[in-house]
Parts: sequence; structure tokens; C-alpha cells
Amino acid sequence: METLRSFVGGRWVAGSGSPQTLLNPATEEPLAQVSSEGIDLAAALGHAREVGGRALRGLTFAERGALLRGIADALQEERDALLQLGIANGGNTRSDAKFDVDGAIGTLLAYVDVANALGARKFLVDGDGLQLGRSARFHGQHIAVPRRGVAVHINAFNFPAWGFAEKAAVALLAGMPVLSKPATSSAMVAHRIMQVVVEKKLLPEGALSFLVGAPRDLPAQLGAQDVLAFTGSGDTGARLRALANVIRHSVRVNIEADSLNAAVLGPEAEPRSDMYELFLKDVVRDMTQKAGQKCTAIRRILVPREIFLSVKDDLVELLTPIKVGNPAEEDTRMGPLATKSQLEDAHKGVALLKGRLAFGDLERRPKGYFLSPILVESPGEAVHEHEVFGPVASLLPYEANAAELVARGNGGLVCSLYSEDQAFLEETIHAVAPFHGRVFIGHPKIELSPGPGTVLPQLVHGGPGRAGGGEELGGARGLALYLQRVALEGPRPSIQKLLG
Ligand code: NAP
Repeated sequence: METLRSFVGGRWVAGSGSPQTLLNPATEEPLAQVSSEGIDLAAALGHAREVGGRALRGLTFAERGALLRGIADALQEERDALLQLGIANGGNTRSDAKFDVDGAIGTLLAYVDVANALGARKFLVDGDGLQLGRSARFHGQHIAVPRRGVAVHINAFNFPAWGFAEKAAVALLAGMPVLSKPATSSAMVAHRIMQVVVEKKLLPEGALSFLVGAPRDLPAQLGAQDVLAFTGSGDTGARLRALANVIRHSVRVNIEADSLNAAVLGPEAEPRSDMYELFLKDVVRDMTQKAGQKCTAIRRILVPREIFLSVKDDLVELLTPIKVGNPAEEDTRMGPLATKSQLEDAHKGVALLKGRLAFGDLERRPKGYFLSPILVESPGEAVHEHEVFGPVASLLPYEANAAELVARGNGGLVCSLYSEDQAFLEETIHAVAPFHGRVFIGHPKIELSPGPGTVLPQLVHGGPGRAGGGEELGGARGLALYLQRVALEGPRPSIQKLLG
């Protein structure tokens, strides 16, 4: 069985101690083992800060962008192998695996464009210069420079390729070295990506390190110039935020956590209309793509009370033919959950919702972590409080209270609205926007719409409250996490010379 190794201090290192075993979640077959025990984390962080940081800060944005292009091209060449690993270790169908790997490549390329637009500078010039006194000589200018620490990226299990890329692209472009830690259960894809980066020498030494296996006390070793960007459960996020060193040294922390994303079908929707059909299609895609293990997946389906039964019947009809099975088989439309504990959590979560199953069942198969798509109706209040991270969504009727129901989720990544009623849209957008990082407006005439569940690198990703309060991506906006904004004030000629 393969042993996955970490890449720290410029070399591959295997951990000691008893390893964790990575499985194929469809067959429970062991695939690889991993341990991070015994790896010198302080030395790993030190090497990244010193060697990687210096190398990256010496490059312009355009040069850092060229490095990202190299990674994107290499992942494109390795695409088939990565898809196979996503199928075997992630329980992904081929289409799910493409969503992850192509998303990673697309995000890297989007940041190549950002890099090229920023050009030959090594730091950001933020806004225009300002005259500060009576004389034009007293001048002010904001700039943003790379922080001198290391960006530690802790990723969730569901997007091992995209999760790596969406964080690493931004930090590397900003000029900060990265130590990336994938979730252990699905680490084989990220591990292969790291192998490719090392084998092809795509980055300067120290720019990218990789820790596979348990995080141990990695976050507790971070200091004032470091950044911690975490994606995962709200509970882990809260623990990280409360670490003594994080509080004492004001370690910059970005948390991407849970979300009870709502999709609202507008009050004017007619069954069989194009808008109605688009709504159903997006709901079913979000329930089943990656077996519902997407942080942006629709969890609450809000429909006008008058057409509740029609929506329910149509969703049941669309969910019925979806074949759940081993994603290695071609006709499988939905694979298993990623791990046994995710399956157990999903079972507990469905019970917590206290609703009636309009579709699906909780039967377990003798092998594999399978769960059928589950459509819940008449759920209890927990539908606004508990995220079931699987192919599970709840159907809720609304009258005039759609926005109020959406806001009960207490902060989410995305809310999607399916309506052409401009007054309804405007009122609802104003009401739900403060609670979300993104509002998606569905329209049948938008060709090849990716739906609300797809995170685009040009737009910010994150959300307030339950979603962790973080913000990533958003084109050049994402760089802010890794840069220190500094206000320069003084003689205008000196400042202007510095800016070049
Ligand atoms: P999790 O248990 O919090 O794990 C996430 C990551 O944190 C893994 O890499 C894990 O490592 C690591 N980790 C666990 N405990 C840690 C600790 N004490 N210190 C440092 N790192 C620690 O989350 P999960 O249950 O696997 O992921 C599912 C959740 O992620 C869902 O709730 C979902 O909503 C959320 N999610 C959010 C987004 C977003 O963008 N907002 C995206 C995807 C997923 P090990 O694997 O080694 O334990």
C-alpha cells in the first residue's frame, strides 16, 4: 500500500507512528496510509518563511503569475490521473472529479490573468495618492506588501484539488509561501498535485510545503506575520479562532465553514415555466453533485405555498432515476459519502431535522458509505440551524416570509433567487444580502449557467456568521488576506519614486 509523504523543508518526509489508512469510500478497500507524527513542524514553517518567502517576494506579480500558469499546465497534463484518484479516494463520479480538478485549473488560470493585470510590481498600490495638507508636498498613499510569514492552508475533504488551488494561487500571487494541509481522508489527489509540482520544479524552493496527515499543533505554532486560512466545519473553525497564540499575536485567520444555503423560487413562478424547470434542475444538481458534499449546495428549498405539492412531486420524479453506486461504474450518477463518519453524521443530521422523507431512505449497504438523495418535508427548526453535509435538502413553503426564513440560517455562502419579478428580487436581495457572501439570480436565458453551487474565482467566496465570517477569491480582492496594507505619508517625490 502506498505511503503518502509530506513535503517540508525542501524534501519528502514520511511520518512515524501508527498511520491512518485512506480508503475507497465505495468499496472500503484500503488505498494508502499516512502519518504526520515526528515531522518537525517548527522547522517546516521556518523554512517556508525564510527560503520561500524571500524567493517569492523577489518576483513581480507577473512572474508569480507565470509560476501559477506552470502549475495549471502541469495539472492539465496530469488531469486523467487526478480524476482517477478523485474517483477512487473521494467517491467522486467522473463528473464530480472534473468539477474539482477543472475548477482547480480554472482558478489558477484566473489568477494568471490577475497577475498579468498587476504586472511588473512586487507590491500593490492601493487607490490614488492624496494631498494631505495645504502643500502638495505632504502626500499620502496606501500600499499593500506581502506579509513575512507563512500562509497555512487547512482544507476540507470535499475539494482536494480546487481547495488546494483556490487558496494557494492567491497566497503565492500575493508573495507569501504556503504550507498546505489537505483533509486526511481524501488526500491522494492533493498529494499527487504536490508530487507534480515538485517533480517538475514548478516553484522556487520553500514556496510550497505540504503536510499530509493529522495537523497536530500546526495552528498553535503560528505567529504575527503568518496567515491561517481554514476550510471545514464550524466547530473546528471556532477552535482555531480561540487558540491562545491566534489571539495573542493577532494571527490573521480566515474561516470558511458551514452554510445552510437557500434557493427561493419566486412568487410568480408557474409550474412548467422555464424558470421553474431551471430551479428544479439546480436543486437536483446541488443535491446530487459530489453527493451533496459541497459547502455551497442548496440545503433549504423555499417555494410558494400554492405550488408546494407540484414542486415536491417534480423533485421526486427527477430524483427517482438517479443511480447511486460505485463511481467507477459508468452509469452511476451519485457516489458515496467520503467517509464512514460523514455517513454517520448525515444519518444523525437527518434525524435532527425531524421532518418527513418525501424522497429517499436511510438504508445502509453492506459495503461503502452510500446514502440515497433525501428530500425532507415539514422539517423542524433545526433546518435553519444544522447543516447535513450530504445529498439532503429540505422543502419549505413560504407565503410573504421568504427572506425572513432565509435569514434564519444566520449567515451563509450563497442564496439563490429564481424570479423575474423585479420588485420581489430587489426587496429580497436587500433583505438577504447582509447574511450572505453571494446572491445568485437564476435566469433560464443565461446559457450554461453553473448554478449557485459553483464558486467562481472572479467573485468572492465566504459568508458571515455560520459560514465562518471569511472571504476568499474575488479576483485581486483575495490578495488582501496575505498582504499588509500600509499608509505611507510624507514628501510626495519620495513616495512617488518608491511607487516607480
Ligand atoms: P473538519 O473536521 O473541520 O476538517 C477540516 C480540516 O481541518 C481537515 O483538513 C482536518 O484535518 C482539519 N482539522 C480537524 N481538526 C483540526 C484541528 N483541531 N486543528 C487543525 N486542523 C484540524 O471538517 P470536515 O467535517 O472534514 O468538513 C466538512 C465541513 O466543511 C462541512 O461542514 C462543510 O460545510 C465545510 N466546508 C466549507 C467550505 C467553505 O468554503 N465554506 C468548503 C468545503 C467544506 P484531518 O482531515 O486530518 O482531520
